[in-house]
Amino acid sequence: LFAGETEFLKGVVAMDGLPPADRTEICFAGRSNVGKSSLINALTNRKGLARASNTPGRTQEINFFTAADSHYIVDLPGYGFANAPLKVVEAWQRLLKAYLAGRQSLRRAFVLIDARHGVKAVDEEIMTLLDRSAVTFQAVLTKADKVKAAEREKVLAQVRTKLSKHPAAYPELIVTSSEKGWGIEDLRAVIATLE
Ligand code: GDP
Repeated sequence: LFAGETEFLKGVVAMDGLPPADRTEICFAGRSNVGKSSLINALTNRKGLARASNTPGRTQEINFFTAADSHYIVDLPGYGFANAPLKVVEAWQRLLKAYLAGRQSLRRAFVLIDARHGVKAVDEEIMTLLDRSAVTFQAVLTKADKVKAAEREKVLAQVRTKLSKHPAAYPELIVTSSEKGWGIEDLRAVIATLE
């Protein structure tokens, strides 16, 4: 799936800008600075493909990438900027809700969780939204190289406990480090199984 070039298709700011739902789609969500751009770049072997597009006040776009003419890889803007203007946050939440609730071709969401911090309140919010939208989601631990094994186990236990309360959560987690390349093949393999 990621052997060929993954290409940027478009940034979407409103529902009528969505490309036709004619292929398998997966999306990535996570708090700002969780390592989402780095993970998408590692996944697709393309440095600089996904930019950190999470400056407060900046237009919030849903970024679409095409992989192998068969999949859309979707980058949802980073959430959790407490100081973003309310109007921006509200508009973004409306678009996000509409997208998640109405996208027939969306097979799975990957919710990125920083291995140092575990599940935060804003992560809970997106998970609850995914429950309500009946979008299966899978947690992906990022920056695993930044924590010692014992600490990682503690965070994993916390994440598992949190996930168990979400009906849309897929039970298996993926532990990654974009820096070290850990878990990237696992993530690719999971995506390849989704049709
Ligand atoms: P985004 O805001 O979620 O797109 O996050 P970025 O991908 O821009 O990453 C935020 C910061 O974390 C950057 O300074 C990255 O270099 C760093 N980072 C991302 N992934 C990793 C990782 O796997 N390991 C380490 N040590 N740092 C990472």
